[in-house]
Amino acid sequence: MAKKLTKTTETATAPEKGERAMIEGILEGSPDAVGVAVIRLDCDCRKMAAVDKSGDPASKIIMYRDHAESICDQCKIDHGDFLRIVKQFISWKTPEPDAYTKAMIIAKVLGETQ
Ligand SMILES: [Zn+2]
Repeated sequence: MAKKLTKTTETATAPEKGERAMIEGILEGSPDAVGVAVIRLDCDCRKMAAVDKSGDPASKIIMYRDHAESICDQCKIDHGDFLRIVKQFISWKTPEPDAYTKAMIIAKVLGETQ
């Protein structure tokens, strides 16, 4: 199959397999959501929350750890302190919001660190 070679300007991080399953579950339970904020912590736990088109939370914050019964001891103490964030991004629901809306939501949800 011929694939058109275009240089992509998309720099967003793609969710990992385990994250994708969680994201889908969160989106299913959050009809107002336009995407899910994914926060990766230095201990390998993940923090996720759906966001609506205004950049407001559209679900509870969910914390999980891949292949584990529960989050790690450190997260149980500090609930995933922002100082331990190694990566954060938003996984958009399709159809994705326009660029302006995305920029507004990213600024609101992830702040200046993005
Ligand atoms: Zn942890």
